[in-house]
Amino acid sequence: MMRNVLECDVVIVGGGPVGVTLAVLLAQRGVSVIVAEKAPEIHPLPRAAHIDHEGMRVLQEAGVAQQAMRTSRRGDRYDFINAKGDVLLSFEAGERIAPGGWPSGNMIHQPSIEAHLREALAKRDPSALRSQWEATGFQDTETGVVVQVATPEGNREVHARYLVGADGARSTVRRAHDIEFDDLGFEEQWLVVDAIVHDFDRMPKFIMQVCDPVRPTTCSLMGEGRHRWEFMIKPGETAEELSEDESIAGLLEPWKVDGAVSLERKAVYTFRARIAREWRKGHVLLIGDAAHQTPPFAGQGLCSGLRDAANLAWKLTAIVRDGAPDSVLDTYQPEREPNVRATIEMAIMMGRTVCITDPVAAAERDRQMIAARAAGQSPDGSFNFPPIDRGLILAGAPGAGQYFAQPCAGESGSLKLDDVLGAGAWLITRTPAAPVDGLVTVTLDDPRVAAFRDALERELAIHKAEAVLVRPDRYIFGTGNAGELSKAWSALLTPQARVAA
Ligand SMILES: Cc1cc2nc3c(=O)[nH]c(=O)nc-3n(C[C@H](O)[C@H](O)[C@H](O)COP(=O)(O)OP(=O)(O)OC[C@H]3O[C@@H](n4cnc5c(N)ncnc54)[C@H](O)[C@@H]3O)c2cc1C
Repeated sequence: MMRNVLECDVVIVGGGPVGVTLAVLLAQRGVSVIVAEKAPEIHPLPRAAHIDHEGMRVLQEAGVAQQAMRTSRRGDRYDFINAKGDVLLSFEAGERIAPGGWPSGNMIHQPSIEAHLREALAKRDPSALRSQWEATGFQDTETGVVVQVATPEGNREVHARYLVGADGARSTVRRAHDIEFDDLGFEEQWLVVDAIVHDFDRMPKFIMQVCDPVRPTTCSLMGEGRHRWEFMIKPGETAEELSEDESIAGLLEPWKVDGAVSLERKAVYTFRARIAREWRKGHVLLIGDAAHQTPPFAGQGLCSGLRDAANLAWKLTAIVRDGAPDSVLDTYQPEREPNVRATIEMAIMMGRTVCITDPVAAAERDRQMIAARAAGQSPDGSFNFPPIDRGLILAGAPGAGQYFAQPCAGESGSLKLDDVLGAGAWLITRTPAAPVDGLVTVTLDDPRVAAFRDALERELAIHKAEAVLVRPDRYIFGTGNAGELSKAWSALLTPQARVAA
């Protein structure tokens, strides 16, 4: 007979890419986890096409980066062009390795990445993901959460220390917990069309936003043999009429890909920019699209969710496995929200650039942006994500809160520091330091890091430091004296610690 009550450390509502990534990272660390996913299968509609270098590093930790690389492609560049082909903005793409240790723009097929993540979770814990389990309600108690779930076998309850709402933009968890959105004021309807490619020679080689007021259009490379076009639905048009196969054929006509592609899927989305006001309330946390939504122009929705997962995984582990204080979770939103806000503001800027349908306004935009590029004042090049400026970092220490780049060596950068040192926090030091529980301690002359020595030397030199302590999500806790760093780190994670956000 099936038990009606199940227990685990963390219950995750939503088995989309962000919920499953968090589940993998928790399961890898020995935290017991149940993922309740209402759908029977992976969501099939077209969504993320791009994962950046930081997102790839999170997938690397989850053990799926190699599969993601095998099925993804790199575009030569990401350009915003006007109707005449003049470049208004241009962002880095290509094969060059970016700070996360992977190329900056990896063009993917989201359902394939989700399948790899689910396989990785099943390898760790075959019963963690429960499909066709719909969370219908929960109670946040003094000691944890009780979640009600409707399953094909009847109603169940899951008792856990924490509940993570990874249940997407319409999050039941967020609404049931009365958490409002901060609306950043962007709303546009677009038609998204994914096509299977039969002849790659006839396809564009770079990603582009065509800022043509007649039809603002996105043209994007994808993984797994696909290509994407997105078309803005203009004022006065309806989603239904534009989505008809005949209309789509007309929209694709200027691309001259007849016979080179066949239409796979289409969907209409309203692109919005919203951030939940509370990402942590009692024993409940929000992550991914449940916590924030961005227009897709910067390709950052999923990437932001992956960063959330990396931030929460080690903190939840520190609490439920190692006895760190619950207040560690108060640092989650203050650390992540400024980063998410910056990426959404970038996406809104891009969206406002491309979504202009008035020809006079478009001509003025072109004039201003071309002049800004000529004067070297354009916000293009590469994305810069803001560092963590408060939370679980050693305030005042040089470099604290900055992203710790992943050094790579070997052929095409295939030897990566994270694979060598493994999960957890690292203390990288010039001089030997006493080992500390839960901290990977390594000196620069350790043979394991010989291939990365120059990069690590440079990192220490930048901060004029003897040592750097890197958090498990690869942000710098602090730099300075090795003994003092490890003492400060351990003190913050002891049960008696008081962690201020
Ligand atoms: C057109 C488009 C293009 C995009 N392009 C990019 C891009 O290039 N790069 C990028 O990084 N991002 C992109 N995104 C965003 C990206 O797709 C999302 O950010 C990502 O899917 C969010 O993942 P998630 O796991 O948070 O939520 P979701 O993928 O929405 O998953 C939520 C899951 O929760 C489940 N669920 C909901 N309610 C319940 C419940 N009560 N009980 C149990 N389960 C429940 C749902 O069935 C779903 O499986 C794009 C999005 C769109 C629409």
